[in-house]
Amino acid sequence: MKNLLDFTRQEISVWLEEQGIQPFRAGQISKWIHIRQVNVFEEMTDLSKELRKKLEEHFYIPRLTVEKKMVSADTTEKFLFRLDDGLHIESVLIPGKAHFTLCVSSQVGCAQNCRFCLTARGGFVRNLTVAEMIAQIRDIRFYLMQKSIDPLKLSNIVFMGMGEPLANYQNLIKALETITDSDYGFKFSPRHVTVSTSGLVPKITQLGLDTSVNLAVSLNATTDEMRSELMPINDKYPLKQLLETCRTFTMKPRNKITFEYILMKGVNDSKEDALRLAKLLSPIKSKINLIPFNEYEESNFKQPSQKTISDFLQVLLDRNFTAIIRKSKGDDILAACGQLKAKLIS
Ligand code: SAH
Repeated sequence: MKNLLDFTRQEISVWLEEQGIQPFRAGQISKWIHIRQVNVFEEMTDLSKELRKKLEEHFYIPRLTVEKKMVSADTTEKFLFRLDDGLHIESVLIPGKAHFTLCVSSQVGCAQNCRFCLTARGGFVRNLTVAEMIAQIRDIRFYLMQKSIDPLKLSNIVFMGMGEPLANYQNLIKALETITDSDYGFKFSPRHVTVSTSGLVPKITQLGLDTSVNLAVSLNATTDEMRSELMPINDKYPLKQLLETCRTFTMKPRNKITFEYILMKGVNDSKEDALRLAKLLSPIKSKINLIPFNEYEESNFKQPSQKTISDFLQVLLDRNFTAIIRKSKGDDILAACGQLKAKLIS
């Protein structure tokens, strides 16, 4: 028995064809799974009895188990999902003015070992399967439906949960194919899907060639010395190489790369840093998200003062950058950037 959520529409078509069935049925099946949120083939009433039986013999359509749900004062919701093998991941549902954004996990744990990130402390456990990434989105849409909220209001996906998405590249690409497939039930516009990376250079280039989703890069420092101290990946792919790769990244004419820059008190928040950041990013079509460090128990870093934060922003605005201070949501329930730990560490 195979998990149907592991299959792209293309792959379902191929399977159907092998069985001597018209491949376009894949589109019907995908709508049952993702729009009508059906879990059993019996209910797919526009398919023949024979096909339903055949599907049932080969596939199943599972949900993740919600072990715990937490709601923040700002109404951000964090879901602790238990996977089939008993491991855990977290997804964060972030309400916007009219739409929701879901922050999706790509791995159980993370191997990047960024010094400031809580997820890193539990180490790396394993990659998520395609189905486990897809199910986070599907199950949250189902959750919205149950609350009588239009599930299509969940329109934005960010791969900014636990893990390094580009380190799980093959599964990520397949999941992205399903997420953005215009003939599949999901139908997320690639403009509304963002993959965030700590800077796996060869995979960044590949992502630009393979997809048209948005790229976000967690930059966090303006010198190799500081970046290597904060993010070990910088030893392998230093700033010059990373930024050159961003400069030549394949994207649509009006698109920009998002650079995430966590502001940490006394670490990377000086005027010199802001000036260097402006210089580094000047050749790149970029927008900058400044994220004041989200503190957690035992975190080594602190959030700078409001004045330091706004001065830093002003340097960038004065030089005509698109820059904002991104106030993380859900920090009271450890749902904010870099605070996801699932049950990796207690
Ligand atoms: N591994 C990918 C996806 C995770 S995104 C990546 O690094 O981009 C998580 C984001 O949260 C990253 O931009 C990271 O720099 C940021 N982050 C991690 N810990 C944080 C913290 N304590 N406060 C604020 N941002 C944090």
